[in-house]
Amino acid sequence: MEKQFNQTKINYNSLVELGNLLLAQHCPKEIDILKEFEIDKTDVRPGVLCPICLHIPMRYERGKWRCPICQTLSDETFPEALDDYFYLYKPTITNTEFRQFFLFPTVHVAQKKLHSLHLPSTGTTKNRVYLLSPRKVPPCDFDF
Ligand SMILES: [Zn+2]
Repeated sequence: MEKQFNQTKINYNSLVELGNLLLAQHCPKEIDILKEFEIDKTDVRPGVLCPICLHIPMRYERGKWRCPICQTLSDETFPEALDDYFYLYKPTITNTEFRQFFLFPTVHVAQKKLHSLHLPSTGTTKNRVYLLSPRKVPPCDFDF
């Protein structure tokens, strides 16, 4: 390839400029993933995935999740599960939805965990809706 295409067509600065333009113009496509791939909501397993044996769901225990299969105690895949909820369902979540999706044992435990996330919210006590956003992915480190 290097022998066949040995002529420089675009210089380094133009490549960087083009890369910056692409990043600035990028906007994620908004699609309903479940509808797009004809997946029924009931086919999606709620909960947090075990990072070791990939069992789902793990059980919430004192601030972390325990895998009922391999007994791993972890909270490292919780942020990914929250991203999954965001991408699969919607960019907002109520306390009840949070409790049901992440299988918290009580409303109070779910509320405590939800508050610890410091998510922006709208509405008052009973109608409060928390706004989700996907985690920031670090930019690619292109080597021109
Ligand atoms: Zn496990």
